[in-house]
Amino acid sequence: MSARAACVIGWPVRHSRSPSIHGHWIEQYGLDATYRREEVAPEAFGDFIAHLAERGYVGANITIPHKEAALALSEPDDRARAVGAANTLWYDRGRLNSTNTDVEGFSANLDAAVPGWDRRAGDAVVLGAGGSARGVIYGLIERGITRIHVINRTPERAQALQARFGAAVQPANHAALPHLLSRAALLVNTTSLGMTGQPPLEIDLAPMPRQAVVADLVYAPLETPLLAAARGRGLAVADGLGMLLHQAVRGFQLWFGVRPEVTPQLRAVIETDLAK
Ligand code: NAP
Repeated sequence: MSARAACVIGWPVRHSRSPSIHGHWIEQYGLDATYRREEVAPEAFGDFIAHLAERGYVGANITIPHKEAALALSEPDDRARAVGAANTLWYDRGRLNSTNTDVEGFSANLDAAVPGWDRRAGDAVVLGAGGSARGVIYGLIERGITRIHVINRTPERAQALQARFGAAVQPANHAALPHLLSRAALLVNTTSLGMTGQPPLEIDLAPMPRQAVVADLVYAPLETPLLAAARGRGLAVADGLGMLLHQAVRGFQLWFGVRPEVTPQLRAVIETDLAK
């Protein structure tokens, strides 16, 4: 019998860490399975997805720029539909389903790093209003967070998130940040600021309560200046690499039938990969 196969589809796709993550788990669990990169141009994506099973795949991860197209070409679950983008596809009784695993990647990483994070009193502050902010905000609402202040360089995009997700989302100005941080239980950076090659994220964490949590989606560098500043103040943190690893769990389980674990060994493998 041939090995079960999944892939990550992108354009370009060489930057993707998914083959290293899934490859590690395939080896760890001794599975007869493969996980490949597929570089597919936007004009060829529809045809590629229409023949995914004929190409030998039981499912796929989807990365830039295909996540919206993947949503339209599959049967999305509530998370993918709410976020407006699909990053994981799988077949169920011949139907191609999709979800967005950034939502559970975000929450599961916080659960692992700071158990009980969602029971701390206070609001959430989200910096950024792009694609990843939609997954984060949906994840926060799923976990019962009722007030999420969103600050973005382009205010219209924060307002669009309120229209999308409802009154829990409260667009705010940058000038309000010190006050909002003084009442926050959680601060999440979903902008690309602080990433290698991007401008720094300049923000003073001094007003934050001692029991507050800081999460950064940026994972290059692993320890962003935001996370370093938070640790320096004794705040609990959750990093972007943890989210990246946790978001991969569900796809692997759907395709290969084993729920994999995010272990220190996996983290070390991907840290080495990122350092290359
Ligand atoms: P995106 O859709 O392009 O959104 C980028 C966000 O960053 C927007 O809010 C944008 O503001 C803001 N931004 C960019 N440059 C800025 C600047 N110079 N000053 C102020 N704001 C700026 O990107 P995304 O998909 O949300 O990804 C954002 C980051 O999250 C990336 O670093 C990505 O690698 C990371 N990420 C990590 C994971 C993970 O698993 N750890 C998952 C997804 C994403 P405007 O709206 O004003 O342009």
